[in-house]
Amino acid sequence: MPAALPAHRPDLGDTGLDPQDWGEIRAQGHRMLDDMFDHMQGLRDGPVWRTPPAEARARFRSPLPVAPSDLAQTYEAFQRDVLPFGGGNAHPGFMGWVQGAGTAVGMLAEMLAAGLNANLGGRDHMPIEVERQILAWVRGMFGFPQSASGLFVTGTSQANFLAVLVARTRALGADARRAGLGVEGARLVAYASKAVHSCVPRALDMAGIGADGLRLVEVDADHRIDLAALKAAIARDRALGLTPFLIVGAAGTVDVGAIDDLNGLADIAAAEGLTFHVDGALGALAVLSPELAPKVAGIERCDSLAFDFHKWGHVPYDAGYILVRDGALHQATFDNPAAYLARADRGLAAGDWWPCDYGPDLSRGFRALKTWFTLRTYGVAALGEAMAANCALAQALAARVDAEPELERLAPVALNIVCFRYRRGASDAMNAEIVADLQEAGRVAPSLTTVGGRKAIRAAIVNHRTRVEDIEALVDSVLAHGRRALQTLAMEAAR
Ligand SMILES: *Cc1c(COP(=O)(O)O)cnc(C)c1O
Repeated sequence: MPAALPAHRPDLGDTGLDPQDWGEIRAQGHRMLDDMFDHMQGLRDGPVWRTPPAEARARFRSPLPVAPSDLAQTYEAFQRDVLPFGGGNAHPGFMGWVQGAGTAVGMLAEMLAAGLNANLGGRDHMPIEVERQILAWVRGMFGFPQSASGLFVTGTSQANFLAVLVARTRALGADARRAGLGVEGARLVAYASKAVHSCVPRALDMAGIGADGLRLVEVDADHRIDLAALKAAIARDRALGLTPFLIVGAAGTVDVGAIDDLNGLADIAAAEGLTFHVDGALGALAVLSPELAPKVAGIERCDSLAFDFHKWGHVPYDAGYILVRDGALHQATFDNPAAYLARADRGLAAGDWWPCDYGPDLSRGFRALKTWFTLRTYGVAALGEAMAANCALAQALAARVDAEPELERLAPVALNIVCFRYRRGASDAMNAEIVADLQEAGRVAPSLTTVGGRKAIRAAIVNHRTRVEDIEALVDSVLAHGRRALQTLAMEAAR
């Protein structure tokens, strides 16, 4: 008998972390669920966003709770201080940044996933099969072969990083995982347009190659990468004795939603023997709309693709994805021989596909479940239609902007993003003020960016709840706030 085992102590398993009264928690849970449905149903009636009040922030500064407290009281604090002061992305008036709006189905699936508390690192259980099913669907969506691999990650920032590591393995061999980048690694260079998302230079930084190893290539009038300039940059680097290894194309740039010529990039990558990666955070899912799919033609030719189910797919945060054509190369970049991760022929440690072999994470949540529920319940046709509707609204907004003499559009509208400015008396500062005013007023929330060196009011129409009335409200509010700002200026000048 091992002496350390205590004698008969049934109380040692009775920690009180499970409910003492399941009836009580059930009633509380049903109230929470009803409240969240009410919240979602009533989104349009409230403001997009309001500044979290100082009192709410102050109430959150509390010492580490040692003693228990009532669940109902904690929930009350959530309702009072958290729920009304969210980021606004679920609201139909939200047009700032590219963010998904979520769905009621996604919310329910999140609850189921949390109830199950599955760990998707590996082993032999059904949740792994759900993630495999998503992989099979994603391969089909993008015309990738059976041998392609894929993985849920937090978001496209992480997916782009993983893609850089996979490309690094292709360029240097898996040996670089052990030996480091060495002299050969110091010569690696990657290419993307000037409009590339900031997470791509950061991915090169994190991969040890350095952000300076990313060449930022000029764009054309449509904000697409200039292919001739790209070829010239590659030739220049080769002449310098450097090693071009990666081209990153954009299926929807973050600022204006431009889509690079993906077929042109695929041709150059093939001719030069480089890896072709696509940042499709915003636009990749356009393949689900027959109307929009031609815009991202060529995406099926990339070596790897990063995209987000949590943006245009409306799966609740977070649900990023990486798809890699060469599954073996993907695995060779991340697999891990630790003894405690050894595979068995049978038992719980069986299973021939362990996600932990394809990325840096061992413990992983069940992102696949909310994605599976979303795709299955709505069907991809409806998701594609919602995206096409967003693009139609963006075109309507562009037309309205073009028709208003006080407004000026700053970029072509390829997808769902419209950048414009208030032009009369038009300083950058005034446009920045208008954006902040609108956000604080709470009816519509665009964001501010810089296009061609000028401050732009940016409306990214991503939300499936956004309607024509929200687009009208945006233009009307910009005009009203712009005119008021001009009046104030005139009054100050007269004084
Ligand atoms: C949003 C976005 C990213 C970053 O994706 P996350 O999911 O926020 O990490 C990268 N690239 C583009 C083009 C984006 O729109």
